[in-house]
Amino acid sequence: MRRILISGASVAGPALAHWLHRYGFEVTVVERAPAPRGGGYAVDFRGASLEVLRRMGVLDELRAVETGMGETRYVDAAGRRIASMPAVAFSGELEVLRGDLVEVLHRRTAGVVEHLFGDSVTGLTEDADGVRVTFENAAPRTFDLVVGADGLHSNVRGLVFGPEREHVHELGFYASVFTTANHLGLDRTGVFHNSPGRIAGLYSARHNTEAKAVFYFAADPLTYDRGDVARQRELVAEAFAGQGWEVPRLLAAMADAPDFYFDSVSQVRMASSTRGRVALVGDAGYCASPLSGMGTSLALVGAYVLEGELAAAGGDHRVAFPEYERRLRDFALRCRRQAVDSARWFVPRTRAGLWLRDLNYRMMTVLPTGGLVARMALKVANAITLEDYRGAAVVQP
Ligand SMILES: Cc1cc2nc3c(=O)[nH]c(=O)nc-3n(C[C@H](O)[C@H](O)[C@H](O)COP(=O)(O)OP(=O)(O)OC[C@H]3O[C@@H](n4cnc5c(N)ncnc54)[C@H](O)[C@@H]3O)c2cc1C
Repeated sequence: MRRILISGASVAGPALAHWLHRYGFEVTVVERAPAPRGGGYAVDFRGASLEVLRRMGVLDELRAVETGMGETRYVDAAGRRIASMPAVAFSGELEVLRGDLVEVLHRRTAGVVEHLFGDSVTGLTEDADGVRVTFENAAPRTFDLVVGADGLHSNVRGLVFGPEREHVHELGFYASVFTTANHLGLDRTGVFHNSPGRIAGLYSARHNTEAKAVFYFAADPLTYDRGDVARQRELVAEAFAGQGWEVPRLLAAMADAPDFYFDSVSQVRMASSTRGRVALVGDAGYCASPLSGMGTSLALVGAYVLEGELAAAGGDHRVAFPEYERRLRDFALRCRRQAVDSARWFVPRTRAGLWLRDLNYRMMTVLPTGGLVARMALKVANAITLEDYRGAAVVQP
């Protein structure tokens, strides 16, 4: 059992490729985009995911690009401060931009494992000897295993486990993030402005030379084409029309954003994320949503457990897949629960809820509760025991 196809080269895909290659598997990665996709928000690590990064040997590279963010301010429509939250509450033990993480992870596997960029799987047929895979561009091939690491709207999940509507559950919010100018001159800090059911924010990035604009809004399910970026921009603009603070300026900047990201805030809930010779990892199999603050951590830990169990089982998926699912189930569940809890705090839907949230934040400003928030986050981040798979047998060619 040696040849593995991974669909998706973002976070879970390259992390898994790195480990599987190290354990002697022959890995091919197929990615729909023409190159690794940058962009996105800042992602933070603590607990188990930080340990996975350490075991991967990428901590130094990531420390070199960490954001080093300070406090986050909440302001009213006129820009007056309501409350401030210390960095310890939100930025974990290490925080980097998602695009930088993707770059570091990709460097680990570039030139070492085969990459098929600008391509996508069109069909998967499993028999006793393997999985026959057809592609949009590449010639058909047979692999021993196929892993879908292709995100919330996973292509592999759709082909093997059925339509998205059976597995993807919207939490009632939409999110948008893009890079823009740091026109407020923010110095390693972020500013957020809420109104009921909405939050808009700006935080500095890359040593304050640029900034990330962030929007979340509550809405009933929206119908739009995921390829239609112009319509997605309109949806954000419509949701924030008439809002105060810097919102009009940020909406104007959205038109030129090089890396506009928009998606529903959704979770993937499946009874099982493996079937036969196919497994799902990261958002594809158990997306907790950005509101969990754990999406990227979960993807990294999931990749670590999947590769470890495969290596420990000498590549036998019949042994490895059930163990992978068993070890990850509770951790993924806790991450999903955290998203539902934090939605109430991050984007209160009512004026009364917002008032209560602000009151709590003000109390946190005067009382030393930042450490308590950090400890609560660490509890979820550490809700899995990482096995040490270093002794696992390397799969022989
Ligand atoms: C460009 C981009 C920006 C993002 N920005 C944010 C953000 O600002 N905030 C946020 O909360 N989350 C963001 N995310 C999602 C976040 O990265 C994930 O929630 C998390 O890191 C889990 O990673 P993942 O590898 O499981 O999935 P993802 O990071 O979603 O990666 C999935 C990968 O699969 C690829 N792919 C999709 N379909 C196919 C296909 N048919 N064939 C081959 N490859 C395919 C995608 O191009 C992508 O590279 C972003 C994702 C992307 C791709």
